Amino acid sequence: MSRHVKAPFGRLSLHSKVLSILAFLALLALGNVLAMQLLLQRSDRIASSLNLAGKMRMLSQHITLDALAWQQNRLAGAHPAHSHDAEFSAAYRLLRQGGSYDGQPLPALHAQLQAPLQTLYTQWQEHQQALRQYQEAPHGDNAQLPALLHSNTQLLEQAEQLMSAIARYADQAQERARWSSLLLFAVDALVLLLIYLALVRRILQPMRAMVQMGREISAGNYSVRLTDLPSNELGKLGYTMNSSAAHIEQLLHDLTQEHAELAQTQAMFSGLAENSVAGIYMLNEAVEIIYVNEQMAQMFGYPATQLAARFPLRQLFPPEVYTLIHERVQERLQGQTQRARYERSALRADGSAMEVEIFGSATHYAGRPAIIGMMVDISERKRAEITSKRAALVYEHTTEAMVVTDARGVVQDINPAFTRITGYSAAEILGRRLNILNSGRQDRAFYQAMWASLHEHGNWSGDIHNRRKNGEEFIERLTITTSYNEDRSINCHIGLFNDVTEQRQREATIWHQAHYDALTQLPNRQMFQQNLLRAMEQSRHSGLPFALVFIDLDLFKEVNDTFGHDEGDELLRQVSQRLQACVRSSDRVARLGGDEFTLLLQDLKHTEDAHPICRKVLRAIAQPYALGNTTVNISASVGLTFFPRDGQDGVTLLKNADLAMYAAKDKGRNQFCEFAPAMQQEAQNRRLLLRDIQHGIDEQQFTLHYQPIVDMQSGRIVKAETLLRWNHPERGLVSPMDFIPMAEESGLIVPLGDWVLRQACAQLAQWRAQWAPDFELSVNVSPVQLHSSEQQAQAWLHYLDSLALPKQSLVIELTERVLLEADRESTLKLGDLQEAGIQLALDDFGTGYSSLSYLKRFDIDYLKIDRSFINQLGEDSEDNALCQAIIVMAHQLNIRVIAEGVETQQQHDILQRAGCDFGQGYWYCKPIPAADFSARLQEQSALRS
Ligand code: C2E
Ligand code: CA
Ligand code: CA
Repeated sequence: MSRHVKAPFGRLSLHSKVLSILAFLALLALGNVLAMQLLLQRSDRIASSLNLAGKMRMLSQHITLDALAWQQNRLAGAHPAHSHDAEFSAAYRLLRQGGSYDGQPLPALHAQLQAPLQTLYTQWQEHQQALRQYQEAPHGDNAQLPALLHSNTQLLEQAEQLMSAIARYADQAQERARWSSLLLFAVDALVLLLIYLALVRRILQPMRAMVQMGREISAGNYSVRLTDLPSNELGKLGYTMNSSAAHIEQLLHDLTQEHAELAQTQAMFSGLAENSVAGIYMLNEAVEIIYVNEQMAQMFGYPATQLAARFPLRQLFPPEVYTLIHERVQERLQGQTQRARYERSALRADGSAMEVEIFGSATHYAGRPAIIGMMVDISERKRAEITSKRAALVYEHTTEAMVVTDARGVVQDINPAFTRITGYSAAEILGRRLNILNSGRQDRAFYQAMWASLHEHGNWSGDIHNRRKNGEEFIERLTITTSYNEDRSINCHIGLFNDVTEQRQREATIWHQAHYDALTQLPNRQMFQQNLLRAMEQSRHSGLPFALVFIDLDLFKEVNDTFGHDEGDELLRQVSQRLQACVRSSDRVARLGGDEFTLLLQDLKHTEDAHPICRKVLRAIAQPYALGNTTVNISASVGLTFFPRDGQDGVTLLKNADLAMYAAKDKGRNQFCEFAPAMQQEAQNRRLLLRDIQHGIDEQQFTLHYQPIVDMQSGRIVKAETLLRWNHPERGLVSPMDFIPMAEESGLIVPLGDWVLRQACAQLAQWRAQWAPDFELSVNVSPVQLHSSEQQAQAWLHYLDSLALPKQSLVIELTERVLLEADRESTLKLGDLQEAGIQLALDDFGTGYSSLSYLKRFDIDYLKIDRSFINQLGEDSEDNALCQAIIVMAHQLNIRVIAEGVETQQQHDILQRAGCDFGQGYWYCKPIPAADFSARLQEQSALRS
């Protein structure tokens, strides 16, 4: 930067100043001369005055001498001359008034000398008078003489005084002149000194500084400057030198800076080119590459040296793309455009394609037009663009609401789904906080927890009850995630939510259905389990025990069977109401299923406190129930357990309550039993039994006995019932009554029953082949088997086929329970079996409540009257008529009747008379092993033939 020093030039130039000084010196010299002249004149005048005064003194002497002489002469008669008087008074006038003396002008005597002059003159007049008086006095009268002598002396004295006054004055004048000339000299010297100083300051000093500056500049120091420049030509010169130096310095500075900038630019370029993420290239006029950086080489997969060696640009692009690029390049080379930026596909050395963004601008290189530019591999960016476009599409079209907020929860962006769900448009919500959606259903703590989670983990998800713009409440399933900046500060929160109101309502319904019993609206087993866990937790906390009361209605099934399911349901509803009325609201009532209920009695001080409640429950349940038109009585068996005494966990506790309940039933029902550890022993026994059954199956400890079924009319054995026997190594022969229920409960009945059926069929096939071609065998099938999906009807049918047994030869005995509780699986299975031709017998008829409608529905072939009826048969027994009625009714339905447990001749006779078709019982034959049975068949066939 050039700095011009502006010179403050004064109006006085050096030349005019020098002239002024010379003029001043001339004036000074003239002044000196004039002053000297004046002094000389003055001393001349004083000398003339002194002269004149001398003359007056001399005249005075003459006058006195004349007077004396005259006196002498008078004495001698001579007359005094008066000529001196005239001269005296002329001299006096001259001194007094000035005039010309000796041809020279003489000024009047100085005022201070006028007084002695006047005195002298006066004395001279007095002397004249004295003289006259003396003269006029008669001769000889010498009286006047002393006066004359006195005046003589006086005159002389006065003349002398004037003389000496003038002489003194002359001395003084001389002294003054001397001082004046000294003063003049001093003034001269001072003036010369001032002139000298001015010269030094205004001329010499600047000149010396200039010389010094000249030396510095020639030594290359251009930063020196002259200061305190005078306002003359030298100053001007100084300013010129300053501005020249400044100018040169600026030039030098600019030059160095330009150099530095150039070096920096070069460093920058090579730095950029070497470290750039972009490829940098240069093209010559022939559209060949003359420079590339390493990045460019890497991008394209060529060595940099190969590319920079006039590599044709053409080879880096597919032909059709290159045509376009070539045009653009030419435009720039010809100067039609300066700069260009576009995106194209390019080819790597290995032939793979990539997307590049190309920047290029026209330049000159080595004096020729050239192009310099950059290429960036944007394949990734392109992909990202596509992804982000897709993301934007998702954002726009998703049914999920999205909202982006800043770190403080101020809404930055929403998607259309947000508006659809909340009713708020972007304009209404952007820049606001989301709490305008608050329904007020969540408390402060809820939001605090949410923010805490967001701060700590960066995310949160959960349900929020919010309010739409129209005021309607809704539930949203919200997931908030946090996006962070690189410095881990929060960039934004992203909230995604769905309107899950309906879903939640559905879930609530489902939850309710899953946790509450539809019939009684009591908590179900599921809910009971949760309540039980909660009660255990509370008990552990409080240290107080709680009671688990297990209630099972006695003989409820009979109510159901007798009065129908609707009435049964109503009874259960009323029971549940009574149970609820028996306990505090904090105690929980639940229905585990069927006719099983539980109570949880919490915070008991003593276990005995539960007893009155149990009694209350028993009393309440035992009250009559009005069901439709009838009144029903029922009782309950109650098992009582305490936590933690009777079980540390829910399963044990419930199991023990169940055991206690069974104990109550065993003791005769309608009572409660507190759990005792001994009960577990029984259960343990049952468990062992179960294990033994499993073992027995494996060890083939089971065998089959067969009990003949006799044709009442002919007395011949036409059928047999297969009865399972267990040869237990320790317990001996175990009754099916003792293990079948366990096997059913555990499901072991399925494999066991399958074994029975196959074994029986094999036996049947043998007997039919050997002794009785029309022989039929019945097999007891448990409802569990029919229900189980492990047991397929087809398996049995195939087995029969494999034995070449006609399906009609097999009878399946079912209890009424099967028909009552028949589910889809059982019904289908039975259907399949029946369709194939297998016959069905309804076992133990008369013990349950089954109605005839079941018999019709399931197309039963045989009806087995239960032993308990047959037992009672005798003379005049009511049961005779009952049996007869059953038989008649069965026959009307085309069902044949088998009487079970016939033990006497009488029973046989009664049944025979009643028209019963078949008989089975000890009176005919006990169940016997297969071999014995074979013998019986053999016997019978022998009798026949
Ligand atoms: P159920 O089907 O009623 O079988 C008849 C039962 O009555 C048999 O008892 C039989 O021995 C017994 N019985 C026959 N005649 C008389 C008699 O004149 N007087 C008396 N007091 N009893 C007689 P068992 O063999 O002890 O079988 C008991 C129950 O076990 C059977 O009753 C049946 O329900 C079940 N059962 C037996 N074998 C099987 C089997 O293989 N599968 C299934 N599921 N249950 C079986
Ligand atoms: Ca049976
Ligand atoms: Ca039976």
